[in-house]
Amino acid sequence: MAVAGPSSYDVVVIGGGVTGAGVARDLALRGLSVLLLDKGDWGAGTSGASSWMIHGGPRYLEYDWDTTRLSCQDAGHIVTIARNLVYRVVFIIPVLPHDKNNIERMETAMEVYDRFQPLKHAHAHRRLTAAEARRAEPGLAPDIVGAVTMEEWGVDPHRLVFANVDDAVAHGAHAMNHTRVIGLIRDGGKVLGVRYRASDGETSEARARAVVNAAGPWSPQVGQMAGVEIDLRPAKGIHIVYPHRISNFSVSAESIDGRDLLMVAHGGFTLVGTTDDDFYGDLDSVDVMEDEVDYLLQGIERVFPAIRDYRPVRTTTGVRPTLFKWRRYEDELSRRYEVIDHGADGADGLVSIVGGKLSMYRLMAEETADAV
Ligand SMILES: Cc1cc2nc3c(=O)[nH]c(=O)nc-3n(C[C@H](O)[C@H](O)[C@H](O)COP(=O)(O)OP(=O)(O)OC[C@H]3O[C@@H](n4cnc5c(N)ncnc54)[C@H](O)[C@@H]3O)c2cc1C
Repeated sequence: MAVAGPSSYDVVVIGGGVTGAGVARDLALRGLSVLLLDKGDWGAGTSGASSWMIHGGPRYLEYDWDTTRLSCQDAGHIVTIARNLVYRVVFIIPVLPHDKNNIERMETAMEVYDRFQPLKHAHAHRRLTAAEARRAEPGLAPDIVGAVTMEEWGVDPHRLVFANVDDAVAHGAHAMNHTRVIGLIRDGGKVLGVRYRASDGETSEARARAVVNAAGPWSPQVGQMAGVEIDLRPAKGIHIVYPHRISNFSVSAESIDGRDLLMVAHGGFTLVGTTDDDFYGDLDSVDVMEDEVDYLLQGIERVFPAIRDYRPVRTTTGVRPTLFKWRRYEDELSRRYEVIDHGADGADGLVSIVGGKLSMYRLMAEETADAV
């Protein structure tokens, strides 16, 4: 998509993942003139490599319940405005004899999560006996002692991102993908616009009263263009993709290091994920390692023994734009977000939106547009 426009805007948004697309839409709906740029395809960064879920994140309840609440609240708005794009994803969470959580603990956790479920129009959990769980999902391991159910929403993030881009354009925004921002136009402490290279190799400039950095894990690179530092703790995650459904329901499992893994039944295909590892490499060349695949299969195999009989077709990988925090184990890093006005750092006119989740992109977009 390349829609040429004027060279002066109210706002230029850098990054056409779910965050930037949401910001562009919000600003366009407010009547501002907007240019949205992405160096690749819409949603082809972290957004497309996600687990495709609009969820509340019950595991954050232990150490960051406010994120669970915000996520559930915004998920409620997203499933209302994009009802045509979302579908229910029902999990069976089986419990094995030596799991970290026994069935009572697991049910208690779900009882707490049930308080948040109505915010996102989802149903409360059910407790299942081992026989009931295996009747619903015959592939489950014979030694499970019971299970609980949990309901989330699924979404195709590429379609969700594109729907936001499309609506932004319908409200007057210009949007160009395969167009990389290569520099910021600056005058002393003021950011005046962007320099970009379009897919045909041509370099142009767009002036703006404000520039939004919504470049996900690349946002520190965009920050550097204005001489400001953005502290992230990027964390890589992979999925294994099966071109069909393997199970009636989505299934959760415990990994060897006690993390929650998911086998998500998304309509006609299945995603098995995910890992969460500190990432130090090149964001434009993220490889999937064989041991990452083995790690996932090992965890899923415990609860769903036949998993290795199925033929995956590919893997996906993405890097979470997680906010920096020293010492914490990757999986326990907060999924909070931050809207940063860089006026105080000597880059007036630049606003960054970092961190967060797909499940609260709408709220992140609204707060970023407020800041702009
Ligand atoms: C494995 C994994 C699973 C996840 N699962 C979920 C989930 O199920 N539910 C959930 O809520 N969250 C999930 N998340 C988190 C969620 O995916 C991210 O928080 C969210 O997608 C980030 O979106 P974003 O738009 O900020 O970043 P991105 O989607 O990465 O978008 C940033 C965009 O900026 C563009 N860009 C970068 N530099 C430039 C430049 N110089 N010029 C132009 N464009 C540029 C990139 O091309 C990219 O498209 C998951 C994350 C991972 C890694």
